Amino acid sequence: MEIITDCISPHVNQAQEGHMQLVWRQPAKAEDRARVVAWSCPCQSTVYELRRLGGQSYIRRTEYDDDGGRKIYETYRWSYNKAAETWAALLAGQMV
Ligand SMILES: [Zn+2]
Repeated sequence: MEIITDCISPHVNQAQEGHMQLVWRQPAKAEDRARVVAWSCPCQSTVYELRRLGGQSYIRRTEYDDDGGRKIYETYRWSYNKAAETWAALLAGQMV
């Protein structure tokens, strides 16, 4: 594994063989009241956040392009436990 010392937040691993595919939906309206519980390293052009809103949790994927634009995708809403499990699998490259 490559270690970049300037980075504090975790990097998402490359997709492993046999990984599961998450459903990424483009939200009609970006919800910004959610609490961000964890996030992947912003040194990469795609940043993932584990978010919590009310009693539900989900993962947001933000893809930044070179022109300063961004695209936002989100998973379905889950319980916190399910979202935290999915978050760990995502970081490990077991889910994409
Ligand atoms: Zn980094």
